[in-house]
Amino acid sequence: MPIAKIMLDGIAVLMLTAIFAVALFSQDQSGVAAGTSDPQIAAALRDVSPQRIEQTIEKLVSFGTRQTLSSDMPASSGKGANAAAAWLQSEFERYSKECGGCLEVKTDEFIQEPAPRVPKPTKITNVYAVLRGTDPANAGRIILVSGHYDSRNSDANNATDPAPGANDDGSGTVVSLECARVLSKHRFPATIIFLTVAGEEQGLNGSAHFAKMAKAQNWNIEAVLNNDIVGGDRTPGQDAHVVRVFSEGIPATADEKQLKTIRALGGENDGPSRQLARYIASVGKEYFSPATFQPLMVFRRDRYLRGGDHFSFNEQGFAAVRLTEFRENYNHQHQNVRTENGIEYGDLPKFVDYDYIANVARLNTATLASLASAPAPPANVRLLTKELQNDSTLVWEPSPGGLATGYEVLWRDTSAPDWQHAKDVGNVTKATMPLSKDNVVFAVQAVDAKGHRSLTVMPMPER
Ligand SMILES: [Zn+2]
Repeated sequence: MPIAKIMLDGIAVLMLTAIFAVALFSQDQSGVAAGTSDPQIAAALRDVSPQRIEQTIEKLVSFGTRQTLSSDMPASSGKGANAAAAWLQSEFERYSKECGGCLEVKTDEFIQEPAPRVPKPTKITNVYAVLRGTDPANAGRIILVSGHYDSRNSDANNATDPAPGANDDGSGTVVSLECARVLSKHRFPATIIFLTVAGEEQGLNGSAHFAKMAKAQNWNIEAVLNNDIVGGDRTPGQDAHVVRVFSEGIPATADEKQLKTIRALGGENDGPSRQLARYIASVGKEYFSPATFQPLMVFRRDRYLRGGDHFSFNEQGFAAVRLTEFRENYNHQHQNVRTENGIEYGDLPKFVDYDYIANVARLNTATLASLASAPAPPANVRLLTKELQNDSTLVWEPSPGGLATGYEVLWRDTSAPDWQHAKDVGNVTKATMPLSKDNVVFAVQAVDAKGHRSLTVMPMPER
């Protein structure tokens, strides 16, 4: 081949590579990678608005305090938890009006009996909106996003002085609202719930009540995304490209028999909440370019000796994770608003980064929409262990709901944090892999015709 032709071919390949790279990683202003797989989801991500997020946080801060014990102040005062709850409800109702009543806006209101940080019986109101799934066979599946709208200052029981709570957790509250606003313009086979709870700072009271209600009513919640402190505090040292995703490894509800199995299999790293964290990591890779914004999995249920509303859902047996900014500034959390020795304290709007919150909202939006579009996970996934052999045979029951058109078997080294390989095995309920089950961790997920993937399920051994 003449040398000129080789060079031309080389240039053509280079140009094609460049075009492909641009298609994969070119950015619009939102930070969302172009060329993403589902155009409906990509459109919802572009709709997320930092300006609107700013307005919402300013509005939440305008209630002075949203501390839970302030719920004896009337909503008409424009201050306190009741006024905030009434506004959240009106905001969800406004989105619903714009989509022809597509959201069911509800409250879960109850009296919390006295508890360590609840000195007297106290009214707590959770406010939520339901975007009902359009497919009767899948509408019973629920994907949920939550943030806590209650706030606090230095004194956990002070219900009168300013507690702006712009970051903790105005930021998580606005994520639930913004997801509701942009996703209510679209329809999904499964149901999405946008939740805002109170009582978090007093002892996770609101989320505990909600999660118990869900469990008692047999709700099929597949995933809970709890956003708490996702404001991206602007203090130097922050990494605005990263949001941490905390997940429990061993389910809080595992009984003795299940713990025994987990210990025997080395399943400590593969509980449903950990699978959800890996799902969020895969959504991050699909919808964001690596340089823009990515979830960082932390294999721990929460930060040292701290907690959040995802615990309430974990304790009722649901997969639930916590999203939190990369680096917290403790001067800007749970503090009276003041300046001391030149240091500003308090959880004020000026410390949060609206573009960062918008990226967190986009990651939540993409995860909610992906799961609500996807088939249910395959049921009763097992690894056959009756015969000792170096191949591994997995069996499962079809994904309920009829959306699945195929299945993928995933695997990784036992010491690897995330899936390293995936094989499309077709629309079957049994697959034999030429790999020893002793050397890798397997999982199975259901896939639909458009490439939406379910949560992954680790197989249990079957003799
Ligand atoms: Zn919080």
